[in-house]
Amino acid sequence: MSFISLGLSGFFQRALDERGYDTPTDIQAQAIPAVLEGRDLLAAAETGSGKTAAFVLPLLEKLLDHEGLRSNQVASLVLVPTRELAVQVEEAVKAYTAYYPRRIKSLAVYGGVSINAQMQAMKGGCDLMVATPGRLIDLMEKNAVQLDQVQHLVLDEADRMLDLGFAEELQQVLSALPVQRQNLLFSATFPSEVDALIDRLLFNPVNIEIERENKLPDTLIQRPIEVDKEQRTALLRHLIGEMNGAQFLVFVASKRTADNVTGKLKKYGFSAETLHGDKAQKERNRSLAAFKSGEIQVLIATDLAARGIDIPQLPFVVNYDLPRSPADYVHRIGRTARAGEVGTAFSFIDHESDAHFKLIVKRNNLDITREQIAGFERSAEAPEGTAPAKGQPPVKGKRKSKKDKLREAAAREQAAQNSTSQSSDKRKTANQNSSDKGGSIWAKATLKRR
Ligand code: AMP
Repeated sequence: MSFISLGLSGFFQRALDERGYDTPTDIQAQAIPAVLEGRDLLAAAETGSGKTAAFVLPLLEKLLDHEGLRSNQVASLVLVPTRELAVQVEEAVKAYTAYYPRRIKSLAVYGGVSINAQMQAMKGGCDLMVATPGRLIDLMEKNAVQLDQVQHLVLDEADRMLDLGFAEELQQVLSALPVQRQNLLFSATFPSEVDALIDRLLFNPVNIEIERENKLPDTLIQRPIEVDKEQRTALLRHLIGEMNGAQFLVFVASKRTADNVTGKLKKYGFSAETLHGDKAQKERNRSLAAFKSGEIQVLIATDLAARGIDIPQLPFVVNYDLPRSPADYVHRIGRTARAGEVGTAFSFIDHESDAHFKLIVKRNNLDITREQIAGFERSAEAPEGTAPAKGQPPVKGKRKSKKDKLREAAAREQAAQNSTSQSSDKRKTANQNSSDKGGSIWAKATLKRR
């Protein structure tokens, strides 16, 4: 099966060839003809399925003859939950239109950057706009965008959009659209809020359900590593240092940890950047682009900022902090070992996260063995006050009391003192053992991009 046989024009082929798209993925094979036919679409699919091209390509085909847009008007509108996703989808549009027979204008519209440039860019209208709801509304309020000529609407990652609290903004955008239009909705999960949106939005849709990739690929090696909390940064440094320049995506729980860990890695000469919500959008875009191009070695990210982003050929993922939900564990580690590549996912397990990791393993039905790295062995006992009481795994959303925090701080200080006195010995042992740790698993995970 080829893209052309699905009804797309021949000129797309060259651009797709250049991106290495030999054959359409499942979702593309099913969605492209339906969208070309003008049907509404409901697709259960997540990042990695090829969903972006599944809606972008047929929309571009439909926009071929569509000219005469007036200033501030939009023909096709794609709503996405995050800024990063807006940039990513618009980049895909640019790539697919490399050989488009007419000038086509696409625009990514998102917050955190100057609105003036976006207002300016809307002069002359826009064929395909990829927008986050908040900034789109800002532009509408400034009369820089008019949605009354929109012919196609795409809601990408609808579940995340609602998860992130965009319900109201979404309603506001929907009410500015014309009644006659084609609607496409993509979502990985279907909580009741998404169901309600589907009822309101879609008319007699074609349903597409892509088999969920619950099964992690065989080429993905999971390495849960027991380590003391205070030793995690040193262990991370050790792992990165071992891998001769290979790239690492490191997940942390907070912006503060992201900044701390990044600072420490930089101090040791690694090229590292953070991706989190407190950074200016320009910096976030720059960090992500630098990581994707292989310019920087380590990207330290929080879940929110890293949502939906796709990094081809990524050999290592590290859960420096464990994710809160077992489902997020699968999402995170699934960033590596894509498309038949070999990848390794490390997860650091300190005494505090012991019970939570057990839950992750159980819920995902994983068959994995924990290990320790020589020189970074976890102490046998949890320092007092750092581990949750028996039978009480950390509860999502439960806040620690002030007393708990003080007790933990005291324990950390104690542990830090212990580890400083032991660290030089540990380092020696680590160096002695580093070649053992190279092992066949790591050797397999070569970095292709460099
Ligand atoms: P998406 O699910 O749209 O985020 O796409 C996931 C990844 O698959 C991206 O890196 C795409 O460039 C890539 N991709 C999409 N369609 C194809 C295809 N037909 N063949 C090969 N790679 C593809």
